[in-house]
Amino acid sequence: MSQFWSPVVHRLTPYVPGEQPQLDNLIKLNTNEHPWGPSPKAVQAIHDAANDSLRLYPDPNADTLKHALAAHHGVQASQVFVGNGSDEVLAHAFMALLNHPGGLWFPDISYSFYPVYCQLYGITPHTVPLRDDFSICADDYLPQDGGRAGAIIFPNPNAPTGRALPLAEVERIVAGNPQAVVLVDEAYVDFGAESAVQLVERYPNLLVAHTFSKSRSLAGLRVGYAIGQAPLMEALERVKNSFNSYPLDRLALAGAVASVEDQAYFKEGCAKVMAVRETLVADLTALGFEVLPSAANFIFVQHPLHAGAELTAQLRERAIIVRHFKQARIRNFMRITIGTPAQCQALVEALKQIL
Ligand code: PMP
Repeated sequence: MSQFWSPVVHRLTPYVPGEQPQLDNLIKLNTNEHPWGPSPKAVQAIHDAANDSLRLYPDPNADTLKHALAAHHGVQASQVFVGNGSDEVLAHAFMALLNHPGGLWFPDISYSFYPVYCQLYGITPHTVPLRDDFSICADDYLPQDGGRAGAIIFPNPNAPTGRALPLAEVERIVAGNPQAVVLVDEAYVDFGAESAVQLVERYPNLLVAHTFSKSRSLAGLRVGYAIGQAPLMEALERVKNSFNSYPLDRLALAGAVASVEDQAYFKEGCAKVMAVRETLVADLTALGFEVLPSAANFIFVQHPLHAGAELTAQLRERAIIVRHFKQARIRNFMRITIGTPAQCQALVEALKQIL
């Protein structure tokens, strides 16, 4: 605390990202990074860009990347907004589109950055409990006696549960709230869920956010984007251009374009992660864990006889890091990122010993 702080800063409780320890031989399964590297073509493009023109500012409109993403998703380049990681895209969306009377509705268990952005931008949060099985109930987001949403956001698949909402249910939420922006945060969609991008053409209130951090294995490059109809894009561009004209540097733009163009590498990487996930689910189920159905590159698990915090601590003693959350409803769970087959095998062996 300091007298020099602006009043809003006193009230902030910042988001705490998963730790990034700099230790050798650590099995790091705590921040949902991809276990294999990015497309070699992306790495080459970053090298080339570094040798080329770093003296110059990058394209403030990121046109080449927007066109590459538009071609990939079958939309117009004018329907794509890009930013410095999807966290920044989300932040701009909170400010530009999600601050309305009625508050912002989101699941009680979801991405913990949402309440932080609410605090930062003075948005009233309205949490909607997940069902007992941790699935999202679409009906709970429709206008009802208790009121109607000013705006809605949820991850699909949800984080940290990994559970996916079928596209028809997503559409019910979007169609049932024509007065409100619905932001579907699809950070993990490429690992087995259905994307709502195909609905953008029909719904002016739908915004879909994606990231290069997970399925494209470029968390270190910081690239995210959103797809929606032009009026939503204009609001995001207005905020972005009132904040930072160049959120994506030349290396990020070059790497991201090359990654999008390497469709074969992308698909193969997602398929490998999903295959390892199914093996890990089977192995942990055999050890007595309850594993929520996952369409993401992580799984959410609990054991009937062992507390999540205790298991997390014991894994840590064996140099395996997973994520534990303190929220009451999910205190017994661990969120485990899908690693390489060898890392997952080491995790299973460690858990066998601990149990
Ligand atoms: N949305 C969700 C649901 C996430 O879990 C994350 C990763 N922490 C993000 C968005 C942000 O990802 P990034 O900023 O790396 O694009």
